[in-house]
Amino acid sequence: MTLLIRAGLLYTGSQELQGGWVLARDGVIAKVGSGPAPHTDVVLDEPNCVAMPGLVNAHDHMYQWATRGYAPDGTLFEWLRTLYPIWAHIDAGIVRGAARAAMARLLLSGCTLSTDHHYVFPRGQTGLFETLVDSARELGLRFHPCRGSMSLGSSAGGLPPDSVVEKEDAILADTEEKIHRFHDPRPGSMCRVVVAPCSPFSVTPQLMRDSSELARRHGVRLHTHLAETLDEERFCVERFGRRPMELMEDLEWTGDDVWYAHGIHLNDAEVSRVAETRTGIAHCPSSNMRLGAGACRVEDLVRAQARVGLGVDGSASNEESNLSVEVHQALYLARVRAGILGRDDAPRALDARTAWRLATAGGAECLGRDDCGTLEPGKCADVAFFRVDDLAHAGVDDLLAGLALAPPARAEAVVVNGRVVVREGRLLTADEDEIARDIGAVSRRLHDLSGV
Ligand SMILES: [Zn+2]
Repeated sequence: MTLLIRAGLLYTGSQELQGGWVLARDGVIAKVGSGPAPHTDVVLDEPNCVAMPGLVNAHDHMYQWATRGYAPDGTLFEWLRTLYPIWAHIDAGIVRGAARAAMARLLLSGCTLSTDHHYVFPRGQTGLFETLVDSARELGLRFHPCRGSMSLGSSAGGLPPDSVVEKEDAILADTEEKIHRFHDPRPGSMCRVVVAPCSPFSVTPQLMRDSSELARRHGVRLHTHLAETLDEERFCVERFGRRPMELMEDLEWTGDDVWYAHGIHLNDAEVSRVAETRTGIAHCPSSNMRLGAGACRVEDLVRAQARVGLGVDGSASNEESNLSVEVHQALYLARVRAGILGRDDAPRALDARTAWRLATAGGAECLGRDDCGTLEPGKCADVAFFRVDDLAHAGVDDLLAGLALAPPARAEAVVVNGRVVVREGRLLTADEDEIARDIGAVSRRLHDLSGV
């Protein structure tokens, strides 16, 4: 099947083409141009939109959509201690309701490729990972689910209660089984599995080592939280005598097959090491601001040519999952950080085009996708369309800057793998109102189950 995509302005990631078009054949971009376009089976023509590469969500915990609004003023550790006992009651039905809501919201914000870091597997519950994969398939989202894990319970000096941690042998066996069942390494893949112990304060160094060995044996990627808060830094220094990044280097958790969530509290040498080792950073500005965790050194990382993507993070610490809002937040937070440092050029700490690059090509690099993130022949036909004739944007001068400074509430259309999944701002693959009713019901059920 061939699909022609045309927009008022086509932003390919490097070029800005007035009246530009993309020709897609079987989910892959065959040609990009402007002016007269070839004849095709299906045409998606949006003259009042900017079309750009589909946005990439480089960090998330979709089950958390069922626990939004808890501990609204807590630090990371306070917030986690409030939520762990609630998360201990999740089941496949709750994860399904939360994942469908999170994925629907992501698609409606122009996201076409997302990871999900799922690390809570309460004892006796089955089908949690499977329901995430099924939901992405149903909604039409390109998906990189992480088999996360926690093994260091509070009785062993970790942060999570013992009720939510698993045995390490069971984690590794289940992770390998998920790779065998769901990982598709081929170009254009709609599902790739990632190995992802949760954080230095919720797993043992031995599990980190065993996980990296398992991932590298199977050629899959590694993901974890790192340098998110000063509490985490203190934990690592007290327990291991190492800063978080030093610990990762000891455990061989750096390299172009690794990306971290956050990477906020990195010193100059660590920023350089992240860049040199081609390790990725998923910057999650809304979550970082919500938890008061700090401001990632995005400008320094970008200058060092590090791989930086953007993530919404779990919606328990970002009650919205809108990636174009994260572009806006990243832009503003970088400028605030530079302003606090007393810099005269603070408004140039991050510009709109760089911020859009982080949300597209940068995220694709973190996720190891050289076939996603830009609109070029041979790449996946993943495209987001944003209206620029609406009340919020009509008449804006520089459209790409305007869309970053005034982020759109939702995308007008979204194409994933050459398939139109959002049109006229509505999801075509599922009923948005039904998803909203279901997440309302499962969130209430989880609240009641946990007795808070
Ligand atoms: Zn996270």
